Amino acid sequence: MAETQTALSVALEQLRIAAGKLNLDLGIHEMLKRPKRSLIVSITMKMDNGETGVFTGCRVQHNGARGPFKGGIRYHPNVTLDEITALAMWMTWKCAVVDIPYGGAKGGVCCNPKEMSKGELERLTRRYTSLLLDFIGPYRDVPAPDVYTNAQTMAWIMDTYSQFKGYSVPECVTGKPISVGGSEGRAEATSRGVVLCARESAKKSGLKLKGATVAVQGYGNVGWNAAKIAHSMGCKIVAVSDSRGAVYCSEGLDPHGIHEYKSRTGSVVDYKGCENITNKELIETKCDILIPAALENQITKANADKIKAKIIAEGANGPVTPEADKVLHEKGVFLVPDILANSGGVTVSYFEWVQNLTREHWTLEGVNGKLEDKIVGAFNDVYKVAKKEESDMRTAALMLGVGRVSEAIKTLGLWP
Ligand code: NAD
Repeated sequence: MAETQTALSVALEQLRIAAGKLNLDLGIHEMLKRPKRSLIVSITMKMDNGETGVFTGCRVQHNGARGPFKGGIRYHPNVTLDEITALAMWMTWKCAVVDIPYGGAKGGVCCNPKEMSKGELERLTRRYTSLLLDFIGPYRDVPAPDVYTNAQTMAWIMDTYSQFKGYSVPECVTGKPISVGGSEGRAEATSRGVVLCARESAKKSGLKLKGATVAVQGYGNVGWNAAKIAHSMGCKIVAVSDSRGAVYCSEGLDPHGIHEYKSRTGSVVDYKGCENITNKELIETKCDILIPAALENQITKANADKIKAKIIAEGANGPVTPEADKVLHEKGVFLVPDILANSGGVTVSYFEWVQNLTREHWTLEGVNGKLEDKIVGAFNDVYKVAKKEESDMRTAALMLGVGRVSEAIKTLGLWP
């Protein structure tokens, strides 16, 4: 396949590979290539300067055979319907791999949150939610945070949805602040899952986690928490980055210090005692574990052979293209694919939804214990398939996910 580098072409190529390996029914393959439903909305709102802002948003529901749709909402200037469709498809496989009863969805708004005030972001979120009202809901489609959305965004969605219903519906969205029904451990869950996968990979590769060097691309929710958790398990964080650049320190960085510095200055660049490097250099930096935690298509055919990491745990969705996958596999890099490595977020989102539906609140230890069971269980399931099929971990995870979704579709049957 020529490397076209769009998230959707990558997702479709991955589906094609899994379908071939599974000997998937042609009709089911055709069905899974497309989302079940895509909604495009136009968000009209008042900007702080009195002008009218008009933004395009969407919500894509890929497949709901295994349960209600579930997936994050992304605010980014480069959001496209194709990208959101790919992300929705990955959510379908992810929920199946970690075996939680959800289908896959994703939403996005094409906007630049860095140039918007908090008030503007609130009005954008509430208007967007009002346009999705007939398509989302606790048993229909449950949104969560993604790039440049956070717990506050989820609280606005919950409040808007609840205002329309006339009563509080915390179970309509996950990733909320604890004060309005969020789960203990949700903010760190994606990263905890990523690091647990890195730990399990280290065991399989004979690498000692204590003292292992780690580079993290992207220092947002997933990246910073992954650096913090890996550091607490004895790893040495040697490089981190954000959209403005990267920093490297062979002696190891203090993840808390750099988080505080980024919160204050807006970037990790120029952090004391570090060398400024580019994001490109960070990807190719000498380390044991590389955690891409920013955006798609970061490791491609162009740089895959320059990767020095022994383990890659994909915090981001779709950071590695299929052609790069081949190169990495041949080089012997142990890659934990996104639909397994970053499934901790949706797993604890599922726990949050269960807690909301039952009006319970679990302890942090309880949540983290259940999360570890789920992630390690899914890791071992995928590893077993990889051994049996003599494949890489991505192909194995896709086979497991697509296989489970296909089984559900066949069991439900086609209606009418
Ligand atoms: P975020 O907005 O909190 O952080 C994104 C980070 O990436 C920021 O530090 C930003 O500066 C950086 N970044 C943006 N463009 C970059 C570039 N070109 N090079 C380097 N860094 C860049 O987002 P997040 O929630 O941490 O999500 C990160 C990734 O993880 C996304 O791919 C998302 O889909 C995936 N993910 C997130 C969750 C979750 O629970 N938040 C769950 C599963 C997967």
